[in-house]
Amino acid sequence: MPSEFDLIQRHFSRPVRHTLLGVGDDAALLRPDAGAEMAVSTDMLLEGRHFAKGAAPRLLGHKALAVNLSDMAAMGATPRWATLALALPEADEAWLGAFATGFHALAARYEVDLVGGDTTRGPLSICVTIFGEVPAGLALMRGGARPGDDIWVSGELGGAALALQGGGGNAVARRLHQPEPRVELGERLRGIAHAAIDVSDGFAQDLGHILARSGAGALVHYALLPKVACEDAGLQQRCVLAGGDDYELVFTAPQAARRDIEALSAALRLALTRVGSIQSGEAKLQVLDAQGKPLAVPRGYDHFA
Ligand code: ADP
Ligand code: MG
Repeated sequence: MPSEFDLIQRHFSRPVRHTLLGVGDDAALLRPDAGAEMAVSTDMLLEGRHFAKGAAPRLLGHKALAVNLSDMAAMGATPRWATLALALPEADEAWLGAFATGFHALAARYEVDLVGGDTTRGPLSICVTIFGEVPAGLALMRGGARPGDDIWVSGELGGAALALQGGGGNAVARRLHQPEPRVELGERLRGIAHAAIDVSDGFAQDLGHILARSGAGALVHYALLPKVACEDAGLQQRCVLAGGDDYELVFTAPQAARRDIEALSAALRLALTRVGSIQSGEAKLQVLDAQGKPLAVPRGYDHFA
């Protein structure tokens, strides 16, 4: 049987790119850029809750990091370091090898150093903490939306939720199992967007967080939302408005930024769609259908509701 230390050495110790001290000591040593603020976030994936028993380990390695990168994107931060706390029922080398492959491949793409973690026996659970940097004062927060701002959405909504229900085919399944965090978009929105959030619990709920923090309302036109293709219009609407796990960005920006945002969309080859506007008044979301009538907005995901 390999020891805990052999496993860590083999699967999680990699040369660091921009870190003073990585895996192997009692703590890692990080040196943020002068003038940067650190953005820190944690996300946990539990078997039976966030993924099914027997889920492909390479995809889990990808997703565990991707959901954390998405939080950095939503802050306009550049992800730099990660730690990984892992509970495993047994020391399964094949599982660990595949998990590490998925994790390190995504980490390499964004030059994120895995600098530490913890490994213990227990029901399968994966917890990543991510550390990013953002130039002082430029972080994109939920509370910055102002009346008159446009509301924008990246990519397409509803794909992950549709895949979870077994619909949509392979391209859509990829969005559930291998989400693509919008890191470059987040970085490029610094100084342009007023507020941002990533869609983890559903468009309506996550935009709702921006509204609550900003003390403003929103008017969104359902017809304008970038939607996953689906023949069942009712299912499509639930997936688009309330489906979680898309990891697209929803952001607000002044109307004067439209040209810049369209140029950014072309540069990143990523659809950026204007779907509505921020309103003064109470923090309420109105979604209008094609006839201008308000739609009932379904609730998004809540672990305790
Ligand atoms: P300690 O007893 O000081 O907590 P550990 O024995 O838990 O140290 O870990 C040894 C080293 O390996 C530490 O540097 C720790 O950060 C790192 N480490 C442990 N598990 C992981 C993991 N899953 N991924 C990355 N690094 C890990
Ligand atoms: Mg430890």
